[in-house]
Amino acid sequence: MTTPSAYSLAGRTALITGGGTGIGLAVAKCLAASGAKVILGGRREEPLQTAASEIGELASIQVMDVNDTAAAPVLAATLREKHGPIGILVNNAGINMKKPFTETTEADTLSVFQTNVMGGLALARALHPQLKEAGQGSVVFISSMAAVMGIPLVSAYSVAKSAITGAVRAMAVEWGADGIRVNAVAPGWIDTAMSRRAFEGDPARKQKILTRTALGCLGDTEDVGWSVAYLCSPAAKFVTGTIIPVDGGASMGF
Ligand code: NDP
Repeated sequence: MTTPSAYSLAGRTALITGGGTGIGLAVAKCLAASGAKVILGGRREEPLQTAASEIGELASIQVMDVNDTAAAPVLAATLREKHGPIGILVNNAGINMKKPFTETTEADTLSVFQTNVMGGLALARALHPQLKEAGQGSVVFISSMAAVMGIPLVSAYSVAKSAITGAVRAMAVEWGADGIRVNAVAPGWIDTAMSRRAFEGDPARKQKILTRTALGCLGDTEDVGWSVAYLCSPAAKFVTGTIIPVDGGASMGF
Protein backbone atom coordinates (compact mmCIF):
# COMPACT_ATOMS: atom_id res chain seq x y z
CA MET A 1 0.00 0.00 0.00
CA THR A 2 1.45 3.40 -0.94
CA THR A 3 1.43 6.23 1.58
CA PRO A 4 -1.26 8.38 -0.12
CA SER A 5 -3.65 5.44 -0.60
CA ALA A 6 -3.16 4.34 3.01
CA TYR A 7 -4.69 7.64 4.09
CA SER A 8 -7.21 8.01 1.26
CA LEU A 9 -10.95 8.06 1.97
CA ALA A 10 -11.92 8.27 -1.71
CA GLY A 11 -15.21 6.49 -2.37
CA ARG A 12 -16.27 6.61 1.29
CA THR A 13 -19.33 8.42 2.66
CA ALA A 14 -19.27 9.91 6.16
CA LEU A 15 -21.93 11.32 8.49
CA ILE A 16 -20.51 13.84 10.95
CA THR A 17 -22.94 14.95 13.65
CA GLY A 18 -22.42 18.55 14.70
CA GLY A 19 -20.55 18.93 11.41
CA GLY A 20 -21.54 22.56 10.90
CA THR A 21 -19.32 24.13 13.56
CA GLY A 22 -16.10 23.83 15.56
CA ILE A 23 -14.49 20.42 15.78
CA GLY A 24 -17.17 18.72 13.67
CA LEU A 25 -16.61 21.14 10.81
CA ALA A 26 -12.84 20.57 10.97
CA VAL A 27 -13.41 16.81 10.94
CA ALA A 28 -15.62 17.20 7.87
CA LYS A 29 -12.97 19.32 6.13
CA CYS A 30 -10.22 16.80 6.86
CA LEU A 31 -12.33 13.82 5.71
CA ALA A 32 -13.28 15.67 2.52
CA ALA A 33 -9.64 16.64 1.93
CA SER A 34 -8.89 12.90 2.15
CA GLY A 35 -11.51 12.22 -0.54
CA ALA A 36 -14.67 11.29 1.40
CA LYS A 37 -18.17 12.52 0.70
CA VAL A 38 -19.28 14.22 3.92
CA ILE A 39 -22.79 14.71 5.30
CA LEU A 40 -22.91 17.44 7.92
CA GLY A 41 -25.61 16.84 10.54
CA GLY A 42 -27.05 19.31 13.05
CA ARG A 43 -30.23 21.03 14.20
CA ARG A 44 -29.66 24.47 12.64
CA GLU A 45 -29.76 24.60 8.86
CA GLU A 46 -27.90 27.89 8.42
CA PRO A 47 -24.50 26.92 9.89
CA LEU A 48 -24.74 23.62 8.04
CA GLN A 49 -25.31 25.41 4.71
CA THR A 50 -22.42 27.80 5.34
CA ALA A 51 -20.12 24.93 6.31
CA ALA A 52 -21.10 22.84 3.28
CA SER A 53 -20.40 25.72 0.92
CA GLU A 54 -16.96 26.16 2.53
CA ILE A 55 -16.17 22.50 1.84
CA GLY A 56 -17.57 22.36 -1.69
CA GLU A 57 -19.03 19.61 -3.82
CA LEU A 58 -18.13 16.68 -1.54
CA ALA A 59 -20.37 18.11 1.20
CA SER A 60 -24.11 17.89 1.81
CA ILE A 61 -26.24 18.60 4.85
CA GLN A 62 -28.80 16.79 6.97
CA VAL A 63 -30.93 18.67 9.48
CA MET A 64 -31.25 16.29 12.41
CA ASP A 65 -31.46 16.14 16.20
CA VAL A 66 -29.42 13.36 17.80
CA ASN A 67 -31.62 13.63 20.90
CA ASP A 68 -34.49 12.19 18.88
CA THR A 69 -33.21 8.63 19.13
CA ALA A 70 -36.54 7.17 17.99
CA ALA A 71 -36.01 8.88 14.62
CA ALA A 72 -32.59 7.26 14.03
CA PRO A 73 -33.85 4.30 11.92
CA VAL A 74 -35.86 6.60 9.63
CA LEU A 75 -32.90 8.96 9.34
CA ALA A 76 -30.61 6.04 8.46
CA ALA A 77 -33.01 4.92 5.70
CA THR A 78 -33.25 8.48 4.33
CA LEU A 79 -29.47 8.83 4.22
CA ARG A 80 -29.11 5.42 2.51
CA GLU A 81 -31.57 6.47 -0.17
CA LYS A 82 -29.91 9.85 -0.78
CA HIS A 83 -26.24 8.91 -0.50
CA GLY A 84 -25.82 5.13 -0.62
CA PRO A 85 -24.37 3.23 2.35
CA ILE A 86 -22.73 5.31 5.07
CA GLY A 87 -19.34 3.78 5.86
CA ILE A 88 -18.12 6.32 8.41
CA LEU A 89 -20.00 7.72 11.40
CA VAL A 90 -18.42 10.47 13.47
CA ASN A 91 -20.40 11.01 16.69
CA ASN A 92 -19.24 14.52 17.42
CA ALA A 93 -22.45 16.36 18.44
CA GLY A 94 -22.09 17.34 22.06
CA ILE A 95 -23.06 19.80 24.75
CA ASN A 96 -21.26 20.78 27.93
CA MET A 97 -22.55 22.14 31.23
CA LYS A 98 -20.47 24.07 33.74
CA LYS A 99 -21.94 23.77 37.26
CA PRO A 100 -20.76 22.56 40.67
CA PHE A 101 -21.67 18.91 41.27
CA THR A 102 -23.98 19.80 44.18
CA GLU A 103 -26.04 22.08 41.90
CA THR A 104 -26.17 19.65 38.99
CA THR A 105 -29.61 18.07 38.82
CA GLU A 106 -30.56 14.65 37.57
CA ALA A 107 -32.23 16.36 34.61
CA ASP A 108 -28.97 18.22 33.81
CA THR A 109 -26.99 14.99 33.78
CA LEU A 110 -29.59 13.17 31.70
CA SER A 111 -29.71 15.99 29.17
CA VAL A 112 -25.93 16.07 28.68
CA PHE A 113 -25.90 12.25 28.54
CA GLN A 114 -28.66 12.17 25.94
CA THR A 115 -26.79 14.34 23.44
CA ASN A 116 -23.24 13.12 24.05
CA VAL A 117 -23.99 9.41 24.43
CA MET A 118 -27.49 8.14 23.64
CA GLY A 119 -27.74 10.07 20.37
CA GLY A 120 -24.52 8.55 19.04
CA LEU A 121 -25.42 5.04 20.19
CA ALA A 122 -28.82 5.19 18.45
CA LEU A 123 -27.24 6.38 15.21
CA ALA A 124 -24.55 3.70 15.33
CA ARG A 125 -27.18 1.00 15.89
CA ALA A 126 -29.37 2.30 13.06
CA LEU A 127 -26.42 2.61 10.67
CA HIS A 128 -24.89 -0.78 11.56
CA PRO A 129 -26.15 -2.56 8.40
CA GLN A 130 -24.79 0.23 6.21
CA LEU A 131 -21.44 0.40 8.00
CA LYS A 132 -21.14 -3.34 7.35
CA GLU A 133 -22.31 -3.15 3.74
CA ALA A 134 -19.98 -0.24 2.88
CA GLY A 135 -16.93 -2.26 3.98
CA GLN A 136 -14.10 -0.92 6.18
CA GLY A 137 -16.80 0.62 8.41
CA SER A 138 -15.56 3.07 10.97
CA VAL A 139 -17.25 4.77 13.94
CA VAL A 140 -15.41 7.53 15.77
CA PHE A 141 -16.73 9.19 18.92
CA ILE A 142 -15.43 12.54 20.10
CA SER A 143 -14.59 12.08 23.77
CA SER A 144 -12.77 14.57 26.03
CA MET A 145 -10.13 15.02 28.71
CA ALA A 146 -13.15 14.80 31.05
CA ALA A 147 -13.04 11.02 30.42
CA VAL A 148 -9.36 10.87 31.32
CA MET A 149 -8.93 13.11 34.38
CA GLY A 150 -11.00 14.76 37.12
CA ILE A 151 -12.02 18.24 36.00
CA PRO A 152 -14.04 20.48 38.35
CA LEU A 153 -17.48 21.88 37.45
CA VAL A 154 -18.29 19.51 34.58
CA SER A 155 -19.58 16.39 36.32
CA ALA A 156 -22.47 15.74 33.89
CA TYR A 157 -20.09 16.05 30.96
CA SER A 158 -17.51 13.78 32.66
CA VAL A 159 -20.15 11.11 33.26
CA ALA A 160 -21.19 11.25 29.61
CA LYS A 161 -17.71 11.28 28.07
CA SER A 162 -16.59 8.44 30.37
CA ALA A 163 -19.51 6.33 29.17
CA ILE A 164 -18.16 6.68 25.64
CA THR A 165 -15.06 4.75 26.72
CA GLY A 166 -17.21 1.74 27.62
CA ALA A 167 -19.30 2.04 24.47
CA VAL A 168 -16.21 2.13 22.24
CA ARG A 169 -14.79 -1.03 23.80
CA ALA A 170 -18.08 -2.95 23.82
CA MET A 171 -18.97 -2.03 20.25
CA ALA A 172 -15.44 -2.71 18.98
CA VAL A 173 -15.48 -6.30 20.24
CA GLU A 174 -19.01 -6.95 18.95
CA TRP A 175 -18.50 -5.37 15.52
CA GLY A 176 -14.96 -6.50 14.72
CA ALA A 177 -16.35 -9.55 12.94
CA ASP A 178 -18.43 -7.21 10.74
CA GLY A 179 -15.29 -5.37 9.63
CA ILE A 180 -16.35 -2.27 11.56
CA ARG A 181 -13.81 -0.48 13.74
CA VAL A 182 -14.92 1.68 16.67
CA ASN A 183 -12.63 4.26 18.26
CA ALA A 184 -12.67 7.64 19.96
CA VAL A 185 -10.52 10.73 19.96
CA ALA A 186 -10.17 12.58 23.25
CA PRO A 187 -9.35 16.18 22.39
CA GLY A 188 -7.51 18.26 24.93
CA TRP A 189 -8.38 21.94 25.13
CA ILE A 190 -9.18 23.08 21.62
CA ASP A 191 -9.88 26.66 20.61
CA THR A 192 -13.64 26.62 19.84
CA ALA A 193 -16.78 28.49 20.88
CA MET A 194 -17.46 25.74 23.48
CA SER A 195 -14.05 26.07 25.16
CA ARG A 196 -14.17 29.89 24.98
CA ARG A 197 -17.48 29.76 26.92
CA ALA A 198 -15.86 27.47 29.52
CA PHE A 199 -12.96 29.95 30.02
CA GLU A 200 -15.25 33.01 30.21
CA GLY A 201 -14.54 34.96 33.41
CA ASP A 202 -12.18 32.21 34.58
CA PRO A 203 -8.64 33.17 33.46
CA ALA A 204 -7.11 30.97 36.19
CA ARG A 205 -8.72 27.91 34.58
CA LYS A 206 -7.17 28.71 31.21
CA GLN A 207 -3.77 29.37 32.82
CA LYS A 208 -3.91 26.03 34.68
CA ILE A 209 -4.64 24.24 31.42
CA LEU A 210 -1.84 25.92 29.51
CA THR A 211 0.75 25.25 32.20
CA ARG A 212 -0.01 21.53 32.29
CA THR A 213 -0.07 21.19 28.48
CA ALA A 214 3.37 20.09 27.30
CA LEU A 215 3.02 22.02 24.03
CA GLY A 216 1.89 25.14 25.94
CA CYS A 217 -1.06 26.15 23.76
CA LEU A 218 -4.66 25.28 22.88
CA GLY A 219 -5.15 22.91 19.97
CA ASP A 220 -6.63 23.76 16.58
CA THR A 221 -9.80 22.03 15.45
CA GLU A 222 -7.88 20.50 12.54
CA ASP A 223 -5.61 18.68 15.01
CA VAL A 224 -8.69 16.66 15.95
CA GLY A 225 -9.88 16.48 12.33
CA TRP A 226 -6.71 14.82 11.05
CA SER A 227 -6.72 12.26 13.86
CA VAL A 228 -10.27 11.27 12.91
CA ALA A 229 -9.26 11.08 9.23
CA TYR A 230 -6.44 8.72 10.22
CA LEU A 231 -8.76 6.51 12.30
CA CYS A 232 -11.19 6.18 9.37
CA SER A 233 -8.46 5.40 6.82
CA PRO A 234 -6.90 2.10 5.73
CA ALA A 235 -3.74 3.22 7.60
CA ALA A 236 -5.64 2.44 10.84
CA LYS A 237 -7.08 -0.90 9.68
CA PHE A 238 -5.70 -2.70 12.77
CA VAL A 239 -6.78 -0.01 15.24
CA THR A 240 -10.04 -0.56 17.11
CA GLY A 241 -11.47 -0.13 20.62
CA THR A 242 -9.09 2.65 21.52
CA ILE A 243 -9.28 6.25 22.69
CA ILE A 244 -6.57 8.48 21.27
CA PRO A 245 -5.74 11.67 23.19
CA VAL A 246 -5.07 14.68 20.93
CA ASP A 247 -4.17 17.04 23.71
CA GLY A 248 -0.70 18.58 23.33
CA GLY A 249 0.36 16.39 26.26
CA ALA A 250 -2.27 17.71 28.70
CA SER A 251 -3.30 14.27 29.95
CA MET A 252 0.25 13.33 30.94
CA GLY A 253 1.44 16.79 32.07
CA PHE A 254 2.30 17.58 35.69
P1 NDP B 1 -19.67 23.32 19.20
O1 NDP B 1 -20.64 23.85 20.22
O2 NDP B 1 -19.07 24.23 18.20
O3 NDP B 1 -20.33 22.13 18.39
C1 NDP B 1 -21.34 21.30 18.83
C2 NDP B 1 -22.08 20.85 17.58
O4 NDP B 1 -23.00 19.84 17.95
C3 NDP B 1 -22.86 21.98 16.92
O5 NDP B 1 -22.62 21.95 15.52
C4 NDP B 1 -24.31 21.65 17.22
O6 NDP B 1 -25.16 22.06 16.15
C5 NDP B 1 -24.24 20.13 17.36
N1 NDP B 1 -25.29 19.62 18.23
C6 NDP B 1 -25.50 19.90 19.54
N2 NDP B 1 -26.59 19.28 19.98
C7 NDP B 1 -27.08 18.58 18.92
C8 NDP B 1 -28.20 17.74 18.72
N3 NDP B 1 -29.07 17.50 19.72
N4 NDP B 1 -28.40 17.18 17.51
C9 NDP B 1 -27.55 17.41 16.49
N5 NDP B 1 -26.46 18.20 16.61
C10 NDP B 1 -26.25 18.78 17.80
O7 NDP B 1 -18.58 22.57 20.08
P2 NDP B 1 -17.18 21.87 19.74
O8 NDP B 1 -16.89 21.87 18.29
O9 NDP B 1 -16.20 22.44 20.68
O10 NDP B 1 -17.49 20.38 20.24
C11 NDP B 1 -17.64 19.28 19.38
C12 NDP B 1 -17.39 18.01 20.17
O11 NDP B 1 -16.05 18.03 20.69
C13 NDP B 1 -18.31 17.82 21.38
O12 NDP B 1 -18.65 16.46 21.50
C14 NDP B 1 -17.43 18.25 22.55
O13 NDP B 1 -17.85 17.65 23.73
C15 NDP B 1 -16.08 17.75 22.08
N6 NDP B 1 -14.92 18.39 22.72
C16 NDP B 1 -14.65 19.74 22.58
C17 NDP B 1 -13.50 20.28 23.17
C18 NDP B 1 -13.13 21.71 23.04
O14 NDP B 1 -12.12 22.12 23.60
N7 NDP B 1 -13.87 22.50 22.30
C19 NDP B 1 -12.59 19.45 23.93
C20 NDP B 1 -12.99 18.07 24.02
C21 NDP B 1 -14.10 17.57 23.42
P3 NDP B 1 -26.69 22.52 16.38
O15 NDP B 1 -26.69 23.36 17.61
O16 NDP B 1 -27.05 23.26 15.13
O17 NDP B 1 -27.48 21.26 16.51
